[in-house]
Amino acid sequence: MKHSMMKLASSDRLFVLTGAGISAESGLATFRGSGGLWNGHRVEEVATLEAWDADPELVWRFYSMRRRDALAVEPNAAHIALARIEEKLGDRFYLCTQNVDDLHERGGSRRVHHMHGSLFQSRCVRCDKPFADQSFYETAAALPMCNNCGAPVRPHIVWFGEIPLDLDSIYAPLDRATVLLVVGTSGSVYPAAGFVHIARQRGIRTVYIGPEEPANAEAFSEVILGTATEVLPTLF
Ligand SMILES: [Zn+2]
Repeated sequence: MKHSMMKLASSDRLFVLTGAGISAESGLATFRGSGGLWNGHRVEEVATLEAWDADPELVWRFYSMRRRDALAVEPNAAHIALARIEEKLGDRFYLCTQNVDDLHERGGSRRVHHMHGSLFQSRCVRCDKPFADQSFYETAAALPMCNNCGAPVRPHIVWFGEIPLDLDSIYAPLDRATVLLVVGTSGSVYPAAGFVHIARQRGIRTVYIGPEEPANAEAFSEVILGTATEVLPTLF
């Protein structure tokens, strides 16, 4: 490990991408891209528009369980370290996460872009406007309907085959960044796995932190092997 290499200058602009690893260190199973099973279902069978059309009750039971799981865990030292860095850098800091839980917010981060959606938001399939929602919907009778139009309400989650949220607002800060810091992602889920290639083309410094090399390790200028909770608090 070469922690000392990672020093920020006062003029640096930091773009941070976080993934499943940082939530896993709080004890949270993240499912997406992990090949994990839930009640005998592959995640691809409960996290797609096709699954929603076929069995919205099953989909809501899955996301209700994930809400329960997320509410039962706490942010860890890595979440808190990122919030402290944001405090120092202000608008020279941008946090984009692939995670749908709210651990970054609870750890003190103020500006978080959830590119794969938010576990604690739902939206009407017709009105399409996300709203805060911590409820559990676990029976057919409990399935939520829109107060405005009566259409079904779905999780505000980017399912397999759907396009990540507001990509344009991600690429602008990536363009301005001087350092890209990627934490705890497998490097196999696109478009996020491609951020490092965009950054390299622009000559931006690229740093990876995780316990194992990511699939796209060769694209990074620095790979720091270690858990996010070990490494992040020591970096700045
Ligand atoms: Zn509606």
